[in-house]
Amino acid sequence: MNIQNYINGEFHNPASNKWIDNYNPSNGEVYGQIPNSGKNDVENAYISAKSAFPSWSLTTLEERSRILIKISELLEANIERFAKAESKDNGKPISLAKVVDIPRAASNFRFFGNAITQFASESHESVGQNAINYTLRQPIGVVGCISPWNLPLYLFTWKIAPAIAAGNCVVAKPSEVTPMTAYLLGEICNEAGLPKGVLNVVHGLGTSTGQAIVEHQDIKAISFTGGTVTGAHIAKVAAPMFKKLSLELGGKNPNIIFADCDYEDMLESTVHSSFANQGQICLCGSRIFIESSIYEKFKKDFVEKVKALKVGHPSEKDTNIGALISKPHIEKVKNYISIAKEENGTVLFGGNEVTVKGYENGYYLEPTVIEVPNDECRVNQEEIFGPVVTILPFNKEDDVLLMANKVKFGLSATLWTNNLKRTIRMSNQLQAGIIWVNTWMMRDLRTPFGGVKASGVGREGGFEALRFFTEAKNVCIKY
Ligand code: NAD
Repeated sequence: MNIQNYINGEFHNPASNKWIDNYNPSNGEVYGQIPNSGKNDVENAYISAKSAFPSWSLTTLEERSRILIKISELLEANIERFAKAESKDNGKPISLAKVVDIPRAASNFRFFGNAITQFASESHESVGQNAINYTLRQPIGVVGCISPWNLPLYLFTWKIAPAIAAGNCVVAKPSEVTPMTAYLLGEICNEAGLPKGVLNVVHGLGTSTGQAIVEHQDIKAISFTGGTVTGAHIAKVAAPMFKKLSLELGGKNPNIIFADCDYEDMLESTVHSSFANQGQICLCGSRIFIESSIYEKFKKDFVEKVKALKVGHPSEKDTNIGALISKPHIEKVKNYISIAKEENGTVLFGGNEVTVKGYENGYYLEPTVIEVPNDECRVNQEEIFGPVVTILPFNKEDDVLLMANKVKFGLSATLWTNNLKRTIRMSNQLQAGIIWVNTWMMRDLRTPFGGVKASGVGREGGFEALRFFTEAKNVCIKY
């Protein structure tokens, strides 16, 4: 199926008529083409967004809210179609797309549709000076949203929903490897009555289409989720133009397990936090640290559970692990498994490609557990972003804290313990934007979301996102 750009509420071919092949990761075949958009297409999207802005920014909050909630309802009504499309485009189990990706995309619109009606600004009385100050939070204008392939519609809408709720108009680019649900979203927006030009979706490569969005002088803010290297490049391009930037980047998150935890809960959740979405979630706990006294037991039990995971075609109901995103990506992950062996790591389970009958050219890999000799080896330091975890024992709280923080990333950390004082001590000291204690990836959309160090700059979620997508203006009135 070929897709088109969504500009000014209509579907268009790219001006150059150049196209990119779109692969189905479950069988390695090309199943459609997507626009290879250039500067012209981005300019058209910008013009459309710019002309929609005066009216959209003055649309009442009730009306904006109503439209966002309508989009949410239409996504829910089309869940089967969207989940199928997401699974085919990305390789993820359709069961996961149905319970996580698409419901969350719908929640993003519903949440920000409601949040905008509660978004308030401050006022300050300057006592003794006969003056009152108040803060206006005004939409920025035309903003750019660029998203990755791992949770395609989930992360695309996590940016778009707050941007338009706050009164901006958007030029958005989904990942070129997972463009399908972003394309389908255009139809839904039209059906929901989103005015033409409020959302514009331009497809294409990061280095051309994405770059054109970032380089555009009049696109005043960029919300980006993707790799750390890309984020650094975007920051460099955007800085001389003084754009507002929100960067959600890579992770290498510790999963820290103390002997006093609820063992069965921890074990089940750890399998999930290691391999959900083929380990391709920025929040996956890819470095597992286990207190020595339970290390051998954990090792045995964990490997047993991992062995039971079924690698299979994404559409099969009992598939736990679907296909990885692409040929280059599976090669990258396999290369890290070779590096682990060179660094004297022991592969306790996995490490091999899997041939799924009938889909021999798909990108399937066994879930892989590596016991590493130390925390400084490359597989423990670099983001692999696949179904690969490392395990390592620790003796003392201070030791594990040191190892957990000794990476360049700082997105999330998971802690398994029933000791309250330790929970507070560790949560205070772990260098990460999100700490989960006795759970993983439990999300409340009101909370701030983002990372520290090389995991990013800025926060999304709740009012943080609405603050990002608005400019604060102080008005001081002397009376
Ligand atoms: P990527 O950086 O290669 O691409 C992300 C997006 O940026 C894509 O749409 C791509 O086309 C675009 N892009 C690439 N080069 C660009 C450029 N020069 N200018 C503008 N846009 C450009 O990342 P990816 O491989 O799609 O995604 C995987 C990465 O995303 C991992 O590192 C993962 O940790 C990270 N991620 C982070 C979060 C988070 O919330 N922190 C969430 C999901 C994924």
